[in-house]
Amino acid sequence: MRYAFISDIHANLEALEAVLDDTKTQHIDEIICLGDIVGYGANPNECVDLVTKNCPVTLLGNHDAAAVELLSTQHFNIHAKIAIEWTTKMLRKDIIDALTELPLKSSIEQMTLVHATPYEPNMWYYITSLEEAAFNFQFFDTQICLVGHTHIPIIIVLDNQKELYVHQDTAIRLADIEGSRLLINVGSVGQPRDRNPKSCYGIFDTETAEFTYRRVAYNIEKTQQKMKRIKMPEFLVSRLEDGR
Ligand code: ZN
Repeated sequence: MRYAFISDIHANLEALEAVLDDTKTQHIDEIICLGDIVGYGANPNECVDLVTKNCPVTLLGNHDAAAVELLSTQHFNIHAKIAIEWTTKMLRKDIIDALTELPLKSSIEQMTLVHATPYEPNMWYYITSLEEAAFNFQFFDTQICLVGHTHIPIIIVLDNQKELYVHQDTAIRLADIEGSRLLINVGSVGQPRDRNPKSCYGIFDTETAEFTYRRVAYNIEKTQQKMKRIKMPEFLVSRLEDGR
């Protein structure tokens, strides 16, 4: 099986369409969505429709939860708050129902899937250091855990000597790291923040036991024009071309 893992689409339709097109060139059997389909961008309903159609497993993200009022925006920054207020007003009733039903956590083929952290996924903590990663390795028992949330692609390895380190490549083969466990952030489709504006997603092939990132160019200008039309904060518009 070849799985594609997408996350943090954030209502960016051009990015999502480009990524879905790219998966067609990669012989993908199943696309899994790790959450945050909405928030920030101009096409929340269209993005949820596309994810529902293409992804048999989809998780709840914090922006999805806030948009359907399962989560308060009190801990959101001002830009995210403005985006959520607009999104909540725009969502169709059937989309609200669909988002409300999404699970916080799932698993497939010995991989744990969660939007934020395996530890208390409903608290929406961030993994931004090796210490936080080390802590979270205690809260899943599969070899691999895939997450989103920070919008920064990263592969963290806990090897059989209990050493923890960041894998410095955009692909990893399990055969090369026998006995190791992995915490992988699949990056963001709709708002990458690793200084690369191209959409990011991950592929895991269960036959070759290899995980690889893909980067996909999309029409950023078109996305930005739509965001300007609905008066999204300038910071949210300009960050897309910088990938930050
Ligand atoms: Zn996000």
